[in-house]
Amino acid sequence: MDYEALSRQYVLHALRRPKSLIFERAQGSRMWDIHGKMYLDTMSGSAGPAMVGHAHPAVGAAVAQQMAKLPSVNLLHDSPPLIEFCARMATLAPKGMTKTFLCTGGGEAVEAAVKFAIRVTGRAEVLSLSGAYHGQSLATMGLGGMPALRKWMPGAMRWPNFRQVPSGDAYRPLLGESPDSCAAAVHALEADLDTASSCQVAALIMEVVQGPNGHSVFESDYYAGVQQVCRKRGVLLIVDEVQTGLCRCGTTWACDLFDVQADILVVGKALGGGFPIGAFITRKDLIPAGLESEPWHMLTFMNQPLAAAAALAVLDIAEKEKLSERARILGAQFTERMTSLARRYDVIGDVRGPGLFVGVDFVENQATKVPATEACRKAWEFALDNGLITQFGGFGSNVYKFKPPLTTPVEDFESMLDISEKVVAFIQREVNQQRKTSSVAVPAAIGD
Ligand code: PMP
Repeated sequence: MDYEALSRQYVLHALRRPKSLIFERAQGSRMWDIHGKMYLDTMSGSAGPAMVGHAHPAVGAAVAQQMAKLPSVNLLHDSPPLIEFCARMATLAPKGMTKTFLCTGGGEAVEAAVKFAIRVTGRAEVLSLSGAYHGQSLATMGLGGMPALRKWMPGAMRWPNFRQVPSGDAYRPLLGESPDSCAAAVHALEADLDTASSCQVAALIMEVVQGPNGHSVFESDYYAGVQQVCRKRGVLLIVDEVQTGLCRCGTTWACDLFDVQADILVVGKALGGGFPIGAFITRKDLIPAGLESEPWHMLTFMNQPLAAAAALAVLDIAEKEKLSERARILGAQFTERMTSLARRYDVIGDVRGPGLFVGVDFVENQATKVPATEACRKAWEFALDNGLITQFGGFGSNVYKFKPPLTTPVEDFESMLDISEKVVAFIQREVNQQRKTSSVAVPAAIGD
């Protein structure tokens, strides 16, 4: 069968590339296309679902058994796997967070969390950060702070009560490069809350590390500052750990790394081991009497046993295979390799991100930090030709995102490092070429 032709004819894509491949099977960190060519996956599927490895047999078995026994229940009722899953989340979640809402995707869980925050505070406004990514529904797109993504939608609609404040981005400070840039970002939030909001802000939603924005990390003081400002004003903190949660960053939650105490924690991707999933977990004391018996959100696939069975299997694997520890060990190896390459290759502007959640920011010029967008576009194809599935993100699509399965065996991991090194050399060659042929010496810097 000519799958390529059939795909073009029948499959409606939202992001098709000339080199998009068709995969037939996967195991662990390896994937095979329909022609039998093997690839190593540095992206764990779409940025995380394969954290425990593709097609983990324990996840497959749990889902198959649950499918044969009880795949779904009416939304007014519960099931043993769901109850076990929610109880298990309470043991893993930061202290005091005991109530979980389960659904089918990260964006869907963000949307549920936002509705929950609006409902329990009785306030209608929600703030998010520049560079944020929280999903692709009409509401969650409005929380997004990556301008390129907002351009996808004519009119770039935003829920009228949603708006953004500048983040504490450490590499490209939004309020100018100065030793006080972190304090300035905290002040910007404070100023917004005190002057632009009429005390109507229900919540601030933030990622601990902004994955889609190119693994942007914040100054460590930023987390403390944001929490202090929000707490003082009764603004809830929703932390989106759809990418960072569950061992990925070397701890169960990225929140643990920076002493972030969320009021609502959102997870997704890795939790399902490939099964579609999203969930939020919150503190019991936030839930007013009666909330659970009145409708505030209703989905056919909320709190379903199949998703719960997949998640329980994933949580077992994460514990048994000590995945947080592996994230720390493998992450340190990749970070060290890239940091040492940065001494030889001046296209590496920054290497950042905790655990095995690392971004390598490629720039045309280290002083101006102009993204090496064109070279990275070509490098994506170069990596595929070399058997490596990668993705470049960030506002200039110039950040090499490295987040392979935490179960990747040593041999595959070393191959990933070696091919990654070739990718770095490729980008350097491309940028050198551009420098030679460019008539404009230095492109304009961000913010110029
Ligand atoms: N939040 C973050 C931080 C994400 O990275 C994503 C997905 N890339 C989402 C939310 C949305 O998740 P989903 O695509 O499952 O709706």
